[in-house]
Amino acid sequence: MNLRIPGPVPLPPNVLQALCRPMINHRGPEFAAILREVTANLKTVFQTQNDVLIFTASGTGGLEAAVANTLSPGDRVVAASIGFFGERFAEIAQRFGAQVTLLQFPYGQPADPEAVRRELQKGGYRALLVTHNDTSTGITNDLAALSAVAREADVLLLVDGVSSVGATPLPTDAWGCDVVVTASQKALMAPPGLAMVSVSPRAWAAHQQARMPRYYFDFTLAKKYLEIGQTPATPAVSVFFALQESLRLILAEGLENWIARHARIAARTRAGIKALGLRLFGDERYASNAVTAVEAPPGLDVGQLLKVLREEFNIVLAGGQGSLAGKIFRIGHLGLVREEEIDAVLAALRVCLPRLGVPVSAAPRT
Ligand SMILES: *Cc1c(COP(=O)(O)O)cnc(C)c1O
Repeated sequence: MNLRIPGPVPLPPNVLQALCRPMINHRGPEFAAILREVTANLKTVFQTQNDVLIFTASGTGGLEAAVANTLSPGDRVVAASIGFFGERFAEIAQRFGAQVTLLQFPYGQPADPEAVRRELQKGGYRALLVTHNDTSTGITNDLAALSAVAREADVLLLVDGVSSVGATPLPTDAWGCDVVVTASQKALMAPPGLAMVSVSPRAWAAHQQARMPRYYFDFTLAKKYLEIGQTPATPAVSVFFALQESLRLILAEGLENWIARHARIAARTRAGIKALGLRLFGDERYASNAVTAVEAPPGLDVGQLLKVLREEFNIVLAGGQGSLAGKIFRIGHLGLVREEEIDAVLAALRVCLPRLGVPVSAAPRT
């Protein structure tokens, strides 16, 4: 199957095989060695000297950990949202009692750093919450500019990097990102099950004061256990096996090359979509390395398209989320994607769309 959604992603054979390993004692020396290696390799991928904590959870759990560990009920925060995942991050903060000012930018556009700056300059804010790459719209924020704005206003910067870490340059330390969250099933090419969270010294200082309730996701407890090579509760041991292998693969290729591979595949996808006469969703200057969002042409039933691709071509694409349902479809290209896999999607679209009443541009002569 050509699984082309923005996570979970197909796994290379040695990562899959790692999932079959027999269980080990999660409080024994073998697990401690894996935890040490995986944590060190994650620091390389996050481009950070900060602590990186790993929780058995999906990415959303990591977002909850970021909020609950650094903020107190009543804290005022700005959530700059450009899509579904930005709204989720804001909602988590709200549920935990933060006073959230939601800056909602139009879907398909990045956040305007100047607008964020104006809001933060009103004063009294503790944190800025941003999604680096909103997977729902296929748009990547200018995180360098947003981080400069956060530094200027002296607020914590909490980053949802779930679909950007490993796919898009995100130098955590150089940009002063206080908490960066990612998850195992996106560009890190492991199964779902682990969330990783980097914690800067500034975030640790905030953590000491932070009063939001937390138990499972407590940073202090996670760090204390990490120091003895363990996790507070039973971890997803098999996912650790797989992540150990996938990180080795990524770092053998080199982080820069791994990111460049994503950029190349994303560019190929966009070029192919345009060659079909389809329109990309959103501002192409900010198009994502992780996922390509395509506007549904007038008259196209997106559900029907996804069904035909799945049943007749063995290709699985994603639809739109929330208010974008039915309006866009998305092609995921995270992890190890071969050119042929993207070309197969484009070729299938060329056959399917006319059948569903949508004309496509003539194929380029070869
Ligand atoms: C996938 C994703 C999430 C949610 O992750 P889950 O693992 O499904 O909880 C959050 N933010 C972004 C940007 C994502 O792409």
